[in-house]
Amino acid sequence: MSLTTGKITGVNGNMVTVAVTGNIMQNEVAYIIKGKERLKSEIVRIGDGVAFLQVFESTKGLLIGDLVEFSGQLLSVQLGPGLLTQIYDGLQNPLPEIAKEYGFFLPRGVEKKPLDDEKLWEFTPAVKKGDLVTGGSVVGHVPEGIFQHAIMIPFDFSGEFVIEEIVAAGKYAIKDTICRIKDNRDKIFEIAMTFRWPVKIPIKAYRDKIVPTEPLVTQARIIDTFFPVAKGGTFCIPGPFGAGKTVLQHILSRHATADIIVVAACGERAGEVVELLREFPVLEDPRTGKTLMDRTIIICNTSSMPVAAREASVYTAVTLAEYYRQMGLDVLLLADSTSRWAQAMRELSGRLEEIPGEEAFPAYLESRIAEFYERAGLVQLYNGKTGSLTIGGTVSPAGGNFEEPVTQSTLKVVSAFLGLSRDRANARRFPSIHPLESWSKYESFIDKNIIIEARELLRRGNEVNQMMMVVGEEGTSMDDFELYLKSEFLDSVYLQQNAFDPVDAASNRERQKHVFNVVRKILETDFRLETKEEARTIFYRLRQIFIDWNYIDMKSAEFKTQEDEINKLIEEHSENEKGV
Ligand code: ADP
Ligand code: MG
Repeated sequence: MSLTTGKITGVNGNMVTVAVTGNIMQNEVAYIIKGKERLKSEIVRIGDGVAFLQVFESTKGLLIGDLVEFSGQLLSVQLGPGLLTQIYDGLQNPLPEIAKEYGFFLPRGVEKKPLDDEKLWEFTPAVKKGDLVTGGSVVGHVPEGIFQHAIMIPFDFSGEFVIEEIVAAGKYAIKDTICRIKDNRDKIFEIAMTFRWPVKIPIKAYRDKIVPTEPLVTQARIIDTFFPVAKGGTFCIPGPFGAGKTVLQHILSRHATADIIVVAACGERAGEVVELLREFPVLEDPRTGKTLMDRTIIICNTSSMPVAAREASVYTAVTLAEYYRQMGLDVLLLADSTSRWAQAMRELSGRLEEIPGEEAFPAYLESRIAEFYERAGLVQLYNGKTGSLTIGGTVSPAGGNFEEPVTQSTLKVVSAFLGLSRDRANARRFPSIHPLESWSKYESFIDKNIIIEARELLRRGNEVNQMMMVVGEEGTSMDDFELYLKSEFLDSVYLQQNAFDPVDAASNRERQKHVFNVVRKILETDFRLETKEEARTIFYRLRQIFIDWNYIDMKSAEFKTQEDEINKLIEEHSENEKGV
């Protein structure tokens, strides 16, 4: 079958119109032939005898009449062992290899193989001749990092197939045929360890999507206790520049109970992405003591790359994440920032001269955002195992104003909102998640009513603080003052957490439960307070000794000693001790 071709009729930035007569399809990849260069592009709209292409590279020098070849393939990624540890651009070109060969930027028209064709993998079969399989069925495994990478029948094989032949255990390259399968008309298909999947079509080779309820423990107290995230759930992190989005992303990557981390970095500035590429590989994996990159994939784009590639990068990332979910793993996808992604959509829509919606974003902004988050989920696979994909996206609204289309569209679809506050970051109250504005629809391991009470205390403590700024301490009642001290206590010893202390950085659930109970005891104690001076001193001491406690390993003997100290201090100053 010969491929459809066409001729350029117009160029507008990265948008190119092409006169075409053959068969083409939406989201198909097309190449513009310019001398020896082949510029990759995607069909974004089809009209009468005309295709609109978004070109992933610079369109400089393109002329009316230049030849375009349509590939017959949708924009897709390559799947298979070897994806972990990779750093790709939005089109799955491996960036470090490009850097080695060409410096940091890929010259126009160059594509690099996403996976190593030569590398040998130790394959162990999981099926035998005569077994029945379908798309997504596991036929064997190869070790990849600390996981067994499942080798699966490509997901577009629907219906039943019989294994005709499967290779013996041994070393194979990804392109080698490892099994032959037969359909019910005796047609034979050869299966390798790698295949492609179109990025804009969700992978659905599973039995069922299940409502996510099991928590994705992040070991960040304010998240797990107050605003939990479920495995397979969705959350967003809106926050202005400098509020702590990047550090929070590192915390989640390192300490959340996820197996695989996929980071989609759509940078605002090139510097941010360079920072990510410098910092991420040196992050230590607390699980193995080795580098976190061993179970990470980074997809990265900067604002200096064409917007079209940025638009694609989010889809590339979520497709790779879905692929690992199919293996029964828990995957966490962090997209930073979805605002840049939305801006790319806005630019492309502008070039297509579509009717703009709010703030010039396309009318379909909301549905694109919804479709993206809908790819998260806890799924039950054909073999009965479950796998999850949790998606968290940062949003960076201009001026921290949440009343804008990207934040608002995101809020409609996510189940948890972790709003970062500039004020809290400035006051160095980290993680700077706002305890009053944030919310989560998932259930905490602490009773809902207790959480409501604790938030009420924070709200009232904040009110008293505001009032004190006007009327001074003298004008504040002793009861109000105590309430204020308690809310400050809860904030400083529980909500705040030191990401750079090896113990405090990661607070598991058992520890959170234990510590939160002691915090509650303090909040519920009637302290015997004569003067504000005295009250302040007592709470200052309590806070110090409690923060020290946060730095002590729960397994050490000191942990208990310190807890005894805290209890002693409570008893010494509580009303009850007076026998009232
Ligand atoms: P953003 O990505 O939102 O622009 P960053 O994550 O880079 O902001 O945070 C800015 C600075 O704030 C960091 O360099 C660090 O000094 C401080 N910071 C952020 N989060 C924490 C944290 N959890 N603990 C301690 N310091 C933090
Ligand atoms: Mg940042």
